[in-house]
Amino acid sequence: MQSNGAEALRAYIRAETSKCMFCGFCEALCPTLYHGPHRGYGPRGRVNLARLIARGEASFTSDVVESMYSCLLCKACHLKCPGGIDIVGVVRATRSLYVLSQEVSA
Ligand code: SF4
Ligand code: SF4
Repeated sequence: MQSNGAEALRAYIRAETSKCMFCGFCEALCPTLYHGPHRGYGPRGRVNLARLIARGEASFTSDVVESMYSCLLCKACHLKCPGGIDIVGVVRATRSLYVLSQEVSA
């Protein structure tokens, strides 16, 4: 059973990521995108992975964890997002969900 804290994080992530139009404008400014093996190392990919996690449609695979923890939290992507999504907030919340999931399974 999920704790209230985890459910609050999921609700926040769902609300923020529902504003994503998958336009990709954010990707041009991301310093990590082209250093990773796939687009999960950029903001659009992180938003999409977080959305899937919050909906229960994906789990914390090593790729998802790497995607979230390779974000520099620099907020460069915020400058180009027409949806005004708090991408760093989404990444932080997804990291928190991951930590909670580890505590539950320990
Ligand atoms: S905050 Fe993360 S996703 Fe956004 S530009 Fe910086 S490294 Fe990329
Ligand atoms: S710029 Fe904003 S709306 Fe467009 S893909 Fe990136 S996070 Fe989604």
